[in-house]
Amino acid sequence: MPLTGIEIFKLLPKTNCKQCGVPTCLAFAMSLAAGKAELSACPNVSEEAKAKLTEASAPPILPVIIGVGERALKIGGQTVMFRHEKRFDNPCGFAILISDNMSETEVNARLDKFKTLVYERVGLKLRPDAVALKCESGDAAKFEALAAKVKQNSEANIILMSDKPEVLAAGLKACADRRPLLYAANKFNYEQVAELAKANKVPVAIKADGLDELADLSAKLTQSGVKDLVLDAGSRNMKQAFQDQIAIRALALNKKFRPMGYPTIVFPCEMTANPMMETVIASAFVAKYGGIIVLSDFQGHSLFPLLVERLNIYTDPQRPLATTEGIYPINNPVETSPVLITSNFSLTYFIVSGEIENSKVPAWLLVKDTEGLSVMTAWAAGKFVADALAPFVKKSGIADKVNHRKLTIPGHAAAESGGLEEELQGWKIEVGPREGAHIPAYLKQWKAN
Ligand code: SF4
Repeated sequence: MPLTGIEIFKLLPKTNCKQCGVPTCLAFAMSLAAGKAELSACPNVSEEAKAKLTEASAPPILPVIIGVGERALKIGGQTVMFRHEKRFDNPCGFAILISDNMSETEVNARLDKFKTLVYERVGLKLRPDAVALKCESGDAAKFEALAAKVKQNSEANIILMSDKPEVLAAGLKACADRRPLLYAANKFNYEQVAELAKANKVPVAIKADGLDELADLSAKLTQSGVKDLVLDAGSRNMKQAFQDQIAIRALALNKKFRPMGYPTIVFPCEMTANPMMETVIASAFVAKYGGIIVLSDFQGHSLFPLLVERLNIYTDPQRPLATTEGIYPINNPVETSPVLITSNFSLTYFIVSGEIENSKVPAWLLVKDTEGLSVMTAWAAGKFVADALAPFVKKSGIADKVNHRKLTIPGHAAAESGGLEEELQGWKIEVGPREGAHIPAYLKQWKAN
């Protein structure tokens, strides 16, 4: 259980030395209890107190890492129910199911999808995260061979799925160094699975039959020394599973009920046989509050919208996505190619750059830092006006890349054309289209003189 402010205060040095940045130890204790301060800010706390206080400063839903290296999947660590309160941390992961009963061809095809379904959007790579290996054959050796194959042929984070500890142990033999998630400990096997997890230092998912059993198993596994848990309340009915997700988060956050303070795993793949419905169900769990979402298969047309939804849900709603300021060459431009300028709101950038790409006309795109605001908003805020644009154009170095002096500004910033011609001596300012869709036609008729 997290400690209260007063309980934390009793463990602090009580010198009121202010080194933590607040006037008193009591104020620091209250901040720590509210999750607004880090224990490391107090340099004077004893080791003994530190150990006790670590739990108090931990987020109400603990983070869990599956996998190793750059591609490791970190889930949990959430501190709020709603994203308007604070950004959701640690995006959920998508996993594709692979059974040890599948043919070699099917397994290869799924691994191939895992590797190739990667999309670039707003400067980020959107891709799935894990492979859920399910033992349906009951054959430990076959499962071990599958785990070895997946480890050897992909960078996927691995979920080992079986209710038999000896099968999980066989899977671990092949890939324990990849820190797989063991799925799952249940009321019959939790002691053996806990031993496996501790011996191999890997996280464990609990599969229970309802929330009460989940809380009970979570407490037992924690007591046995397993620290990294992932929760599955067991329902394969969309409505019940959705309610369980909300209950788990609310219990962890609002009631500070530690047994529920872990990320979850959900199985849309076991809730319907209809691929479209499976995607719809998965989308609900992206929003609330799946930690790992296991899909029966990956198809580009259903995975991509889920990846974009995840990007949106886990983006800070108070901070627009922004692209880095600079010169972006598109379609291999040369010195006679047109120069356009736009704002660094990511959506604007991707629409404009996408339309330039579609036009097949080589062009230079200047992206001005407007703190992530779109052209119209930035213009209204005084960030996309002549006084701000001219110094950027001069400093950007675009004058060295082209042999003409013609700059196209967005139609929505037409009012700046006169001011810009004054500020940018020698440059001719042309007003481009107001809509991105009209950029290809505009570029095709563009002439340097
Ligand atoms: Fe108290 Fe530590 Fe803050 Fe000093 S740094 S006031 S001892 S909490």
